[in-house]
Order: sequence, then structure tokens, then C-alpha cells
Amino acid sequence: MTDWNEAVSKAGELPDYLYIDGQRVHDATLDTIETHDPASGLRLAMVPAGSRQSIDEAVAAAKRALHGPWADLSPRARGRLMWQAGEAIRAQIDRLALVETLDSGKPLRDARAGVESTANYFCYYAGIVDKLEGTTVPLGKDKICFTEKVPIGVTGHIIPWNVPINMVARGLGPALACGNTAVIKPAEDTPLTALLVVEILEQAGIPPGVVNIVTGHGAVAGQALAEHPDVRHLTFTGSVATGKSVMIAAAQHVASVTLELGGKSPHVIMADADLERAVPDILKAVFNNSGQICSAGTRLLVERSIQDELVRALVAKSEGLRLGHGLDNPDLGPLISGRQLSAVAGFTERARERGIEFATGGGPVTIEGCEKGHFFAPSIAVNVPVDDELARDEVFGPVLSVIPIDSLEQAIDIGNDSDYGLAAGIHTRDIGNAMRYARAIEAGQVYINGYHAAGDTVPFGGMKHSGVGREKGLAALDAYYEIKSVIVTL
Ligand code: NAD
Ligand code: MN
Repeated sequence: MTDWNEAVSKAGELPDYLYIDGQRVHDATLDTIETHDPASGLRLAMVPAGSRQSIDEAVAAAKRALHGPWADLSPRARGRLMWQAGEAIRAQIDRLALVETLDSGKPLRDARAGVESTANYFCYYAGIVDKLEGTTVPLGKDKICFTEKVPIGVTGHIIPWNVPINMVARGLGPALACGNTAVIKPAEDTPLTALLVVEILEQAGIPPGVVNIVTGHGAVAGQALAEHPDVRHLTFTGSVATGKSVMIAAAQHVASVTLELGGKSPHVIMADADLERAVPDILKAVFNNSGQICSAGTRLLVERSIQDELVRALVAKSEGLRLGHGLDNPDLGPLISGRQLSAVAGFTERARERGIEFATGGGPVTIEGCEKGHFFAPSIAVNVPVDDELARDEVFGPVLSVIPIDSLEQAIDIGNDSDYGLAAGIHTRDIGNAMRYARAIEAGQVYINGYHAAGDTVPFGGMKHSGVGREKGLAALDAYYEIKSVIVTL
């Protein structure tokens, strides 16, 4: 049996400090937050619970760095630094992925893919720095008008626990490309990789103060960052309720926001679908990262004539999925915390009380060797009424709700009957139906015959309560510059 203590010791010395202005800050006056491995229950590290004053210091450092050597770099030099930073991250993939798996519970292969993607964000945006061109506007023979893209200033990044290292890079990539500086508040449960990344960025040459990290509680450090008058843009991923409070705080100082707030994404399976392709795709769409993915395909809208056959196939495959410690590369790792496990179990218990049936799973499970882990069985609820909580609310665990449909039109109506609008999928061989669905469904990303196929260069974000703005791809840049127009009268 694996010795988890040994695995933790391989991770090396873990960070236990704030990172401000290029310094590791140990502040004995601060409380601490314990972060642990959600599979084994082992304690990994104690990080500081940053205070309002910690946020003030970090924002002040980020504000100073706006006018230091960072601003003096030519666009090409800034791009080169970002590329070097990306490659420096890639070079440390083994340690970063190990720490990410230990801190978040996710399977090691997913943590490795996450580190690759983190490196890719820096390299992708590195290439745009010397191409952020302005325009000229014709105003007649007596005037010359041109526009420039200028940095917004200090950006605040509030990070969730489900894909911690990626979320850091997803916001930092475009923010740094546009010449901004940043203060990051990682999630309480997963603070470690952000702290490791910032030091790699600085070793690669990004000047001190450009990126600062304040670990801490959402209600204190997160709230203080959102409220800080010198933060000009806030990038937040997490729950709708917290997103709204970040937006309200930002409004007090008229800061802009990028909000990514989750979803209840419909995945439609038409009777003409290629089920051999659809079955593994449906399972991956909902069970990847143990269901803790904002864009998970959690509402399965199945044409009634194939429902029984499809559910049988899904159940058979689900029951073969392996749960275990992330370092063993299971199909599903644990949920992030006991709190999240209770929240997910609450959904399935209440569903049962209302008479909803689970074709498989439906509750927590104990895994041998990881008895303290927060594991939840891959679960499939069938014939879920469209107005049921299980069909409407984000569960953020491995729970699929199957809903029968009788036509594409009905699938579109049910799909759109949601406060959310993040992602949507469809499996069909009918290209007309696929395109009709893609046009009609209210979602920021639509997948035809392959869920989550986009990767990290395609604009991503939600409609309705799923959020504001777009991340990934070139579209993400729009949040991180201001347009300044200069008008010359001759
Ligand atoms: P949360 O939204 O409360 O936390 C996300 C981040 O916001 C964390 O860093 C947290 O410390 C911070 N935060 C909390 N309160 C804050 C405040 N008042 N001001 C500023 N920052 C604050 O999410 P949670 O409580 O960790 O998870 C609850 C639910 O949120 C999950 O079950 C899931 O449904 C959803 N969620 C969604 C995503 C996503 O990717 N969209 C990620 C994580 C959680
Ligand atoms: Mn942890």
C-alpha cells in the first residue's frame, strides 16, 4: 500500500508564507489555514490567513510595480519574459503536478495536463504582447486620431479550488500580456501551487511586485481585495453568490469584472447519435475532476426511444470506474473537502426523499487505503423532473441527471430553461439539428459530438448567471486593457 507520508515528503518544502513584492512574508500576527490532501487526510502545510492589511500591502506593491522596470520593458521583451516564464513552469511539471494532486486530490495525469496548460497560457499570450495594436480613426484633413491599448492597472484574481494552477495562469496570462500587475487570492483548500508558480515567474525574470499572492479566507482577504479602491479589474471564478458579492464590491470603486460562475450544462443525445462515441463522452463530461468542473455536462437530455439502452450502457461503464488517491491515477479522485462532500450528499439525499431514483451511485463511498478521503460514487439519477433542484442547481460533484426528451425543440427549451448558460453539448449525426441546437442554445461554448473539446485557446465564459466576460483565447485580452484615443488638431 502506498505510503502517503512518503509522497508528501517528495513534494519538498511547502510554502507557508504570503508572497508580496518579491518577498516571502512570514507574519506571526496572522492566523493560519491548514491545507490537506483530500484523499488521505494528511496535513500538507499551514498558510497565513491574510488580513485586510496584507491585501493593502500587496496592492501597494502591485501599484508601485506598474511604474517600475515592468513598465520600461519593450513589448517584445515583455513577451520574451512571459515565454520564458511558461517554459520555466513546464520544466517543473513533476513537482508542480505532485503538489497540485496532493492539495486538490485530482488524478496526477489531470494535474500534469493542468501544469502543461498553465505553461501554455504564458506562452500563448507571450506572442501577442508586441501585436496589441491600436487603430486610426478618420476625422478629416485637419485632425489625426489614433488609439492605444494601455494597461488597466492593478488586477485582482480570486481563485477557486477546482483547477487551482490553471485558474491562476488563465487570468495572469492576459493580464501580464497587457502590462498590468496582479494580486492573487488562492482558494483556502488549494493555496500551494500559486505560491510555487509566482517564484518561478520571478526566477524567469518577471520583476518583483508584478505578481503578489495573499492566501486567506474569502470573507476577509477575498473581500478586502474585491473592495480595494486601487484594484481596477477583478477576475473571479467560483459560486454565483460570491460572484455577485465581488461584483457589488467592484461597483463601489467602479472596477470592471470578469466572472466565471459555473453552470448546469445540457448535454443532448439524439436517437441518431453514435452511442459508442457518446457513452464515454457523456461520462467524461460529467465525472471528470469528480464533477467539480463549472462546465460539466450535468443535465443529460436523452431522446426517449434510446433512454433505456443508453442508461444501461452508462451504468455499466460507471460501475467500472475506479476511485482512489490522485497519485494512483484513478478515474475519479476525492472531492475537495468534507464540506463539499456534505453538500453533494445533501443533494442526493434530498432527491431520494422526493422519490428520485439513482440507477447507480447516489452517496459517499469509502476507499480502502484512503479511509479519510472525501469520495463520492459516480451517480446517475434518472427521470429527473425538469423543475427539480437536481435538474436546476449546480451540484459540483459526480452526479448526472437524466431527463427524457421527445424532440430537438424540447431539448432546446429545457436546455435554455436555466439561470445558467455556460456550456452545452449534443451528439447527433444530423448536421442540421446539430447546427440548429448550436444556434439556439444559450451557452458560451457548444460542443458537437465531443464534449469539452475546446482546450485553452478558445473563448470561454457564460451567459446569464454563468458570468460576465470571456477568458481564454484572444477574447480574454479585452478585459485587461483600456483604449485611449488621442486626437491631434493640426
Ligand atoms: P466560493 O465562490 O465561495 O469561493 C471561490 C473563491 O472566492 C475562493 O478563493 C474564496 O476564498 C473566495 N471568496 C469567498 N467569499 C468571498 C468574498 N466574500 N469575497 C471575495 N472572495 C471570496 O466557492 P466555494 O464556497 O469554495 O464553493 C461553493 C460552490 O461554488 C461549489 O459547490 C460550486 O458549486 C461553486 N464553485 C464553482 C467553481 C467554478 O469553477 N465556477 C469553482 C469553485 C466552486
Ligand atoms: Mn488542500
